[in-house]
Amino acid sequence: MDSNKRRLSIDLHIHSTASDGTLTPTEIVSVARHQNLAAIALTDHDTVAGVNEARRFANQCGLQFLSGIEISASPPGGFNIKGSLHILGYGIRPDDPQLNAILARLQKARYDRNPKIIDRLNQLGISITLKEVEKEVVSGLLGRPHIARVMVKKGQAASIDDAFDHYLGQGKPAYVDKFRIEWDQAIQLIRQAGGVAVLAHPVLIELPTKNSLESILKQLMSSGLQGLEVYYPDHTPEDVARYKALARGMGLIETGGTDYHGSLKPDIQMGCGAGDLSIPYEIYQTLIKHINP
Ligand code: AMP
Ligand code: ZN
Ligand code: FE
Ligand code: FE
Repeated sequence: MDSNKRRLSIDLHIHSTASDGTLTPTEIVSVARHQNLAAIALTDHDTVAGVNEARRFANQCGLQFLSGIEISASPPGGFNIKGSLHILGYGIRPDDPQLNAILARLQKARYDRNPKIIDRLNQLGISITLKEVEKEVVSGLLGRPHIARVMVKKGQAASIDDAFDHYLGQGKPAYVDKFRIEWDQAIQLIRQAGGVAVLAHPVLIELPTKNSLESILKQLMSSGLQGLEVYYPDHTPEDVARYKALARGMGLIETGGTDYHGSLKPDIQMGCGAGDLSIPYEIYQTLIKHINP
């Protein structure tokens, strides 16, 4: 019994067809059950449209479930960040009016950006249309991974990663920036909707110096950041140890997840990432103590 308990693991970073994952919220809950996960959170980009369906099915299956969101934010002034500043929100009320008003704005920004990416690709000699890409979207928001998938299908890129590396990634020729909300607004939006705000995948932030993660965390905490994503497939064991120590020292809650996207991130499996990740259930138990009812 004890050893069984020790093995309980969770996944708090999952994307569904509501954004750019390839499994529906119901299918995600089924896979989580199949993988014997004790708890999951759904963290789609810029939408909570999958949350109610996932919660309903999770309740039926006896799987512990947390609502969530992942918001891309602009970094604080003075921080020369090249990578992704993503804020996760856990336990948010999906019907919160302020949250939904901002999400509608972010969704519109995406909608306006996609034809610009297609135009860039066309200018680069890649023959692709928005219609072709729209067919890839089951029900949710169109993102760059959907464009990458069409490019792979048409033989214009060797893999999704290859499409990002040569065309779609930040700084690449078909990259188009999109409107982001400010870091402090993202954190406050999550907090006022009853959620816990967490900095996602710190390894992907690409800070100019090694030592400044602590300074950016301090700044984010001044606006209400409460947690740090310690467990993540791209984090080496050394990264995990470093982030864990940083979280403990700064009074931040530890979280973790795989950033599961189904077949749009084919090397990542729910619950175990590239195969060797295990996120302890205690992480979930601590996190839910900080969520406002
Ligand atoms: P978008 O929402 O359109 O900005 O696209 C963001 C999504 O693209 C995220 O889900 C990332 O997982 C994915 N992504 C970003 N950079 C890369 C990359 N270099 N290779 C593969 N996927 C990526
Ligand atoms: Zn994504
Ligand atoms: Fe992210
Ligand atoms: Fe993600």
